[in-house]
Amino acid sequence: MSLVIVGSVAFDTIETPWERKEKIVGGSCTYCSLAASFFTRPKIVAVVGEDFPKDMIDFLKKKNIDLKGLKIVPGGRTFHWQGRYGYDPNQRETVRTDLNVFENFRPEIPASYKKADILFLANIDPDIQEAIFLQVEKPRLTAMDTIGLWIQSKPASLLRVLKKVDVFFANDEEVRMLTDERNLIKAGKKILGLGPSLVILKKGEHGALIFGEDLVFGIMAHPCEDVVDPTGAGDSFAGGFLGYLDKTRSFSQKEIRRAAVYGSVMASFTIEGYGIDRYKTLKPREVRSRFESFKKLVSF
Ligand code: AMP
Repeated sequence: MSLVIVGSVAFDTIETPWERKEKIVGGSCTYCSLAASFFTRPKIVAVVGEDFPKDMIDFLKKKNIDLKGLKIVPGGRTFHWQGRYGYDPNQRETVRTDLNVFENFRPEIPASYKKADILFLANIDPDIQEAIFLQVEKPRLTAMDTIGLWIQSKPASLLRVLKKVDVFFANDEEVRMLTDERNLIKAGKKILGLGPSLVILKKGEHGALIFGEDLVFGIMAHPCEDVVDPTGAGDSFAGGFLGYLDKTRSFSQKEIRRAAVYGSVMASFTIEGYGIDRYKTLKPREVRSRFESFKKLVSF
């Protein structure tokens, strides 16, 4: 099978109550593909400027990520996002967004990506997400993520994409914004009526809730004593989830549940370091071992 991920490869400036990190590598596509790379060889579609460090490109290559769809714009500047966290790591505010190379980005899917089995449209402008749909042959599974910015600024485009996807990843705030519904169960069910057959509601350090027509499944977040930087947790969840499904080639309920555990496991590693730092040392055996300890944690 093959997994294609479309999203941002970015510089992030991260402010926590304890530290500030200036322009470290991040981006929805980066986190998602790194997490997925533990299960499959993800293919990415993204854009960066000439200022994007060569050693980072080499690092992604070494992690077995297919970069044929990564465009480097000569003279361009990489997308930059700045976020600030409060003492509660679930509380985040966007301080600044510099679109830079995204402004004129028209994604082109390489020929070798067109037959993707799983397509993930990570957080990015919904018009770009829609443009991708026109270029792929019918994938077996499509999934998307978004943020409040797009729900507010491009609701029509967003709803068009939502109508076409099978899986929707969102956090509680986004789901409420999209449905005008405060109760999360009702909100999740409303989204099932807008297109997707599965809604994955991410609840930060409280885990995730998965809704399907005949499925409600709750997964806790791995207990983490030291949350260093929550950025990318959601994208890593999606990467673990979809990477695992790509590997197992089955979308049965049993595998969906296991995939959610892998999503939670990958998110728990991401937040242990700033940016993508944790992926510089993370080993497959650590992923396996955390999956096993997760089993003990939730079985009774
Ligand atoms: P997460 O913490 O999983 O929600 O994702 C955080 C990542 O999303 C950061 O690394 C940002 O670079 C990226 N991001 C934030 N805003 C945008 C945006 N408007 N478009 C694309 N990517 C974004």
